Amino acid sequence: KAGYVAIVGRPNVGKSTLLNRLIGQKISIVSRKAQTTRHQIMGIRTDADAQYVFVDTPGFQTRHTNALNRTMNRGVTQALGDVDAVLFVIEAGRFDAADKAVLALLPADRPVILVVNKIDRLTDKSRLLPFLAELGTQRDFAAIVPISAANGAQTEGLLLEARKLL
Ligand code: GDP
Ligand code: MG
Repeated sequence: KAGYVAIVGRPNVGKSTLLNRLIGQKISIVSRKAQTTRHQIMGIRTDADAQYVFVDTPGFQTRHTNALNRTMNRGVTQALGDVDAVLFVIEAGRFDAADKAVLALLPADRPVILVVNKIDRLTDKSRLLPFLAELGTQRDFAAIVPISAANGAQTEGLLLEARKLL
């Protein structure tokens, strides 16, 4: 099995951290500042039974529509046209207008896994379930996987879900 897996989401949700975690290398720049990833960064992971090409996309810019942002969005949309799966990353406990705008831009005919990142920051874990239930109505997700890209919690589980889509 082999295929392309895109990592998308608004700035700062942890896309680059996730890519680095999935391939076990610090290939993509992680920063508190939004928009540190200007172009697509690819990372390849080779397991015994599967090979993944992960594409870390610059955050879709939905708030400011200047020329650079438009160009970046076009690049992301093109890149998503022929991937095998999309990892749509959001932050646990937060689903705002920017997240919603990114979700609306995802191709309807590609499987999307909802990745709920930063669960290590959740102080009240009982809030996670209603949050996930509500998000499940936004789209027919292939899977919904809460993770922490920072400490690696559930990232192996995420990989298993992605593997099913290759
Ligand atoms: P990107 O803009 O989506 O690529 O986000 P980055 O990977 O650059 O991460 C943005 C910020 O969130 C950085 O300060 C990361 O250290 C932090 N971050 C990413 N993943 C996690 C996580 O699982 N838990 C916590 N607590 N912080 C995270
Ligand atoms: Mg990034």
